[in-house]
Amino acid sequence: MRLARAIVGAGLLLAACSPAAPPILPPTVTVPVPATPPAPSADAPRATPAETAQAEIESRKKVRAMIARVARARGLPALREVPIKVLNRDEILARIKAHVDDDVPKESIVDEGEALAALELVPPSYDFLEGSYKLIQGRIAGFYEPADGTMYLVDDLDDDEAEETLAHELDHALQDQTYPLAPMMKYAPGQSDRLGAAHALVEGDAMSAMYDVVAGSAFNVNDKLFQGLATASTALSAQGSAAPYVLQASLIAPYSDGFSFVQALRLKGGWPAVDQAWRALPETTEQLLHIEKYLAREPAIVVPVPATDALGAGFHAVLDDVMGEQSLRIAIEAWAGRAAAIPAAAGWGGDRYVVARRDAGGQHEIALGWHLVFDTDKDAHEMAAVLEKRFGKACKERDLLGPIAWASKGRDVAIAGGPFERRAAGAPPASASTCKAIAGWPRAMLAAAKP
Ligand SMILES: [Zn+2]
Repeated sequence: MRLARAIVGAGLLLAACSPAAPPILPPTVTVPVPATPPAPSADAPRATPAETAQAEIESRKKVRAMIARVARARGLPALREVPIKVLNRDEILARIKAHVDDDVPKESIVDEGEALAALELVPPSYDFLEGSYKLIQGRIAGFYEPADGTMYLVDDLDDDEAEETLAHELDHALQDQTYPLAPMMKYAPGQSDRLGAAHALVEGDAMSAMYDVVAGSAFNVNDKLFQGLATASTALSAQGSAAPYVLQASLIAPYSDGFSFVQALRLKGGWPAVDQAWRALPETTEQLLHIEKYLAREPAIVVPVPATDALGAGFHAVLDDVMGEQSLRIAIEAWAGRAAAIPAAAGWGGDRYVVARRDAGGQHEIALGWHLVFDTDKDAHEMAAVLEKRFGKACKERDLLGPIAWASKGRDVAIAGGPFERRAAGAPPASASTCKAIAGWPRAMLAAAKP
C-alpha cells in the first residue's frame, strides 16, 4: 500500500536501507527457510563499546575494498569516501524515527493508517506507526544516509549478510554521488505513487549491483524466486508475521519490483539503460511494473480528488493521494490473493483517494473515498468482481468501521468506507453510518468522472 510505503518506505526510502537480503539460490532450487536476522530481544547479549569500535575499524577497511568492487560492477565512479558506523538495532531505529519525524508529517501517516483500516487492510485498532517501526527494526540490515553520505550497518549480521549489505548500501552511496538521492526521494503530499516508482528504481539498482558483486551476476538470480523468498522471509520473521500483510508486502515491493524493472532494463541495454532511467525516472508504479509502459511514457489518468459533500456537513479532507498500481495490487493480494491481484491491478489507469474527518467534542469521525479509473471497461469489471467477492454486491455494514460501499460505471470504480467514530486512542472505533446513508457517495464520485 502506498499508504504504508510512505512510512515503511520512508524509513527505508529516506534512509535508503536494505532488508536482510534473501539468500542467493540457483533458479531451480526449491525454496528453503530463508535467513532472517534474529529478533531484537532484551535478553540478547549486546556488543560492548570497545567491541563496536573494533568492528568499525574492520568495517572501514572492508568498505574501501567493497566500494571499488561495486563501482566496477555497476559502472559508477566512486567520487568520495563513505564513512561507516556500526550500530545496534535500537540505535538504527532511533535514527530512522528521527529522519521520518523531520520529513513526513505525522498526521499524514496516521491518516494513511485510517485509510488502510477503512479498507480492512489493517485491524481497526492497529497502531500503524508503531507497527511499521517494529517491522523495520526487525528487518533492517543497514542503511545509507544521503544527508551525511554515511552508511550505517547493524551490529548483529553474520559475514554473508554483512557482505551483501555492504555491497547494497555502497551502491546507494555511488548512486547518491552521481544522482543526488535526497531531492528525488523527498516526501511530497499527493505524490506517493511517483515517489514509490523512484524508490523502487533506487532499491532495484542496489539489489542488482549487489548480486553482480556477491553472486557473479544478477542474472544468476531469478526475480520471481527473489520475490517469493523476500515475502516468505518477512512472513517468517517474528515482526513480519505479527504485521498485517499490506505492511509486509509494502516493505518488500520496492526491492522486488525494482529488481525486476532494473533487470528488464539491463537486458535491453546493460547498465547504461539503467543510467538512462535515472535521468528519466519512471513516473508511476504502473510504468515501473510494465517496462513497455515506461518506454512509451504512458501517463497516469488524472483523477479528481473525491469531493466529500455526500458525507454531510462538517467533514473535511485531511489527506488525499494516489494509490498507484503497485499499492492496488498489494490491496487486492490482501483481499483476494496474489493470483487474482496481478491481472486485476494491471488495468490500473489512475486513481485518487481522500481521507475525510469530522471533529465533535473530543471525538472524531473518519471516512475514506477512493476513485479508480481503469484502462478499459473490462479491467473495471475485474476490479468490481474482486470487490463484490470481498464486500458484497454494493455495500456491507460493519460494527466497528461503518459501511463499505462501492459502485462502478464504464472504466470507473468508486469505493466509500466509513464513517466510523474514533474515541480514545487505542480503543476500537464504532460505526457512525449505514449503507443507506453512504450509498450516495460512490455514485457522486462516479458522476464526477470524465465520460
Ligand atoms: Zn537499499
